[in-house]
Amino acid sequence: MSILSGRIQELIDRYAKIYMERTGRSRELFERARKVLPGGTTYQIRYFTPYPIYVTRASGVKVWDADGNEYVDYWMGHGTHILGHSPDFVVKAVNEAAYGGTHLGYPNTLEVEYAELLTKVIPNVEMVRFSNSGTEANMYAVRLARAYTGRRYVIKMEGGWHGGYDGLHVGVNPPFEGPESLGLPPEHIKYTLVVPFNDLDALEKALRGFDVAAVIMEPVLGSGGCIEPQPGYLKSVRELVDRYGALLIFDEVITGFRLALGGGQELFNVRADIVTLGKIVGGGYPGAGAIASRSEIMELLNQVKKPSARARSFHGGTFTGNRITLTAGYALISYLNHHRALYENFNNLWNWVRGEMDKACEEYGRICWVTGVGSMLGIHFTRNRPINARIAYIDRIDDGLYSLLHLYMRTRGILYMTEHTAHLLPSMIHTGDHARALMEEFKNLLSEVIRK
Ligand code: PLP
Repeated sequence: MSILSGRIQELIDRYAKIYMERTGRSRELFERARKVLPGGTTYQIRYFTPYPIYVTRASGVKVWDADGNEYVDYWMGHGTHILGHSPDFVVKAVNEAAYGGTHLGYPNTLEVEYAELLTKVIPNVEMVRFSNSGTEANMYAVRLARAYTGRRYVIKMEGGWHGGYDGLHVGVNPPFEGPESLGLPPEHIKYTLVVPFNDLDALEKALRGFDVAAVIMEPVLGSGGCIEPQPGYLKSVRELVDRYGALLIFDEVITGFRLALGGGQELFNVRADIVTLGKIVGGGYPGAGAIASRSEIMELLNQVKKPSARARSFHGGTFTGNRITLTAGYALISYLNHHRALYENFNNLWNWVRGEMDKACEEYGRICWVTGVGSMLGIHFTRNRPINARIAYIDRIDDGLYSLLHLYMRTRGILYMTEHTAHLLPSMIHTGDHARALMEEFKNLLSEVIRK
């Protein structure tokens, strides 16, 4: 054991004790939960050691756990709550709408209005279809790209998380090959190729070698480490994709309405052929997802023009376009559209925070790097600056540092996800004071690990 790992373990033990003293009720809930919910949770990424907190309430930037502890939340419903938890005007709009029917099950006026709004605020899209999640949006987008190009292969990035759809559930975690789950036959990922983010040579090789329908990627790698594209990378991806006759799908489930109102396309000025959305598009309510593209591609879903099911690409689902999600999403995106100036301050604040936190890493022996763009922040305890998920995962100094940071922050009233990868997705209502408190705690922890 190195001196550093000894120190990390000592600190983990110290903060685990403090955590357990503060969270007795959550510990009891975990004991009950593990009997009826596998792993005691509804989604494995929400678990942390020795047991997670169970949250009773959220409002604005804060959440409260079953023991009454208050936390500043930097996870924000998986990056959903860009204006904080439960903005008043959104909740009011939804409550009013609910009395007129929660799910109409017919074409409705709001889907027309919301689709029109989305085509105005997202660049390069003329038509929209709503789905129930980001996973679904990506599943249908891949199918649509295959239908349009008549090709089979899809290229994705190492570390790219597009949801649990079979065809994209590969290359998420090291070793970035083979099915990511039990029960996923290799045949289901036979037509999926995985290349490192920020690596044009690998991308070109894959495009040259196979009949590629689409490259699907996040403009900024999200759960793969909040890693920014290198200057010019996205433009070169666009050129390569065009050269080889494939489509470019931007998975903007995290980046959409976050990096800019028009997402990564707008911020980086790079055109995608298909954009998939989730999270923020649902205004904080469940059932958040959409596929958007130009008419020529979207018309492959048109049952009027293509009455035969075999002549079109399928998309649908019971709760698609439900009134609750559309009301919330429409209210939220309309607000952002009328307050576009918010993005400048939002991005400036978190670009500054990232710079300051990264400087702290430099001061403390470069045991970490802080990556990302705007309000997507990744903290990495790696030897080198991560430019892709391979470095983010394999070049780690010590996994214990991730657990320690998470645990320490929990005891200081700060939450983010996960304890294996440190990602922060602040909202527009986190203030400079919140940011300064976060930076202070981050530095405190570094100073405990590396005693100068
Ligand atoms: N795409 C990206 C970039 C995501 O981050 C996620 C979820 O975190 C998904 C797709 C899947 O979305 P959902 O969880 O809504 O199915």
